[in-house]
Order: sequence, then C-alpha cells, then structure tokens
Amino acid sequence: MKKIAVIGVGYLGQHHARILREFQDVELAGVVDQNGERVEEIASLYKTKPYRDYRDVLEYVDAVSIVTPTTTHFQIAREALLAGKDVFVEKPLTDSLSDAEELVRLSKDRGRLLQVGHLERYNPAYQRAKEFIKGPLNLLIAERLSPFSGRGVDVDITFDLMIHDIDIVIDLLRIGGNRTPEVKSLQAGGYRFITDHIDFAEARLDFGNSQAILLSSRISKEKRRTLTIYCDGMSLIVDFMSQTLTRSIPIREGVVFEEIPVEKKEPLREELRDFVDCINSRSCPLVSGDDVLYPLRLTIEITSKMRRFN
Ligand code: NAD
Repeated sequence: MKKIAVIGVGYLGQHHARILREFQDVELAGVVDQNGERVEEIASLYKTKPYRDYRDVLEYVDAVSIVTPTTTHFQIAREALLAGKDVFVEKPLTDSLSDAEELVRLSKDRGRLLQVGHLERYNPAYQRAKEFIKGPLNLLIAERLSPFSGRGVDVDITFDLMIHDIDIVIDLLRIGGNRTPEVKSLQAGGYRFITDHIDFAEARLDFGNSQAILLSSRISKEKRRTLTIYCDGMSLIVDFMSQTLTRSIPIREGVVFEEIPVEKKEPLREELRDFVDCINSRSCPLVSGDDVLYPLRLTIEITSKMRRFN
C-alpha cells in the first residue's frame, strides 16, 4: 500500500485526491494546501489528514502529486525529490527549461519517478486516433478555448493551455519511433486581454513535411478542445471533451464523415493509475519528465518569439 499526498487541492487537486482515495492499493496519506479552509474541507471529504505546509508530509509518504500553480512546481518538486519521493507534477512541469532539466536530472540521480500531468495523452479519443495513423502527417490543427476562469493566470496561455497541444503534436510526430522533429520555422501572435499575461495565442509551426496550427484562448465565450489531423488522404477529428473521434474522407461529391467508436474513460484516473503502477513496478510512465523537455522548450520559444498585439 503506497502512501501518497496531494499538494494543492484547488480545482484540479481535489480530483487527484478523489481518485487516489479510490485506488485500493493507495493510502491517501494527506492533502496539503496553503488555504486552511479549503484543505480542511477536502481532508474531511476524503477522510485524510489536512496539512498547510508540504514539508510536513514529506517524511510520511512514498510519493506526492503536486497540483499547485505552475510557478510553485519547481521548488516543491525539487524538495520532494531531494527527500527521496516519487513525484507527479501537473503540467507544465515548470515555466523554465533549466528548472525542468534540474528536476529531470535530480529524479535520475535519486532513482525516483518524475511524471508530468499531460493528461490528454491518456484521452481515449486521442489514443484511438493514433491507431489510424499509418503514414506521414500533413496538417495538424488544434483549438483549445476556454471562458475566463481566473485560474492558471500566473503564466501565459501558452504554458497554461497551448502546451497540451504542443506536447500532442510532438507525440504524433514521434509515432513509429521517429526522431524528435525540429521546427523549421515558427510564427506566433498573442494578446493580453484581462490578466498580466498573454490570454490568447496562435502559433504556426513548420516541421518541413508537417505543419501545425495551434489556437489557445482563456477569454473565449465557449469551451472547445479539438484536434484535426490531416494524413493519409483523410482527416481525424478528435474531440477531447466529448471523447469522440470522427474520420472524414473526401469523395467526388464532398466529404463523408464516419464516427469511430471510442470507449470513454476518465483520463485523470488513467494517468494516476499509470503513476501508481510505475511506483510499484519501478517502470517509466507514459509521460516522464524527459518526455516533456522538448515540448516545454518549444513552448518557451513560441512565447518568446510571439508578436504581441498590446
Ligand atoms: P487552483 O488555483 O484551483 O488550485 C491551486 C491550489 O494550490 C490552491 O488551492 C492554492 O491555495 C494551492 N497552493 C498554492 N501554492 C501552494 C503551496 N506552496 N503549497 C500548498 N498549496 C498551495 O489551480 P488549478 O486549476 O487546480 O491548477 C493547479 C495546477 O494544475 C496548475 O499547474 C495547472 O496548470 C494544472 N492544471 C492542469 C490541468 C490539466 O488538464 N492537466 C487542468 C487544470 C489545471
């Protein structure tokens, strides 16, 4: 029975606590949050101990799941790794490449797991879509739009939302063991609307034979998370929210759409199951710290080269 604590039980962390509490082979050994009222509420809901300071749980647990704001990930993850714990960190791993590299190095030196919460990789509609991809990818179009929630605003939208799609694009381009693709050219634009950071961003990445167009917003009227993959003379439309997959094929009269069956699952549960299985088997999770270094580097590059419109 592994003892795991969740650090940060706001919007997403409460779900980490719920799912870990449901696993038969895990003891939810505590929840941590700076917000005293919130941590008491979540601890009583999931029948575990509340802590205000993450340092107080480190000696009692085998592993931690870090679900605090991005700008706090590095310090907490570093201390947990130094204390010899296996670590799950929500995406983005950090907002700086050197910090991310230090965490990856530390996890390897200490022989500890470092898994990163790019949960769309566990989305069954996306996983089903990958089964249909046989040849080179032509065009990838990702839209990730949200109404303003006030969360994730410690970083630009590129780190908050677009990084999911950057990671997915890199994952797709690596299918079949292909080498990590280099970007031949990139263009990006961003707009600051409500927060002190970029709230809306668009990026066009040219990988030579493949092109990706990414659109992310946290100031949208509606919520949308879709990816259209053009390859092999067809398109695959992944809806991450409804977990549906549609294939379209052009015919002389127009385009025929076909719904592909997808078995729905909770991606967060799949992701945390992977974490616990890897703790037990000492194997590498689907999304390790190493895996996310390149998507993070690209996110930083897009953000720094972005033409800012205000
Ligand atoms: P949130 O603001 O709702 O929750 C963060 C919580 O962390 C708050 O309750 C806050 O009090 C607590 N906190 C802050 N600093 C702390 C510290 N030093 N020690 C203990 N607690 C601390 O934010 P959220 O939306 O739940 O996002 C948290 C993280 O999860 C972010 O990194 C975000 O990018 C990520 N996230 C990922 C996804 C996904 O799809 N994988 C979705 C949403 C959020």
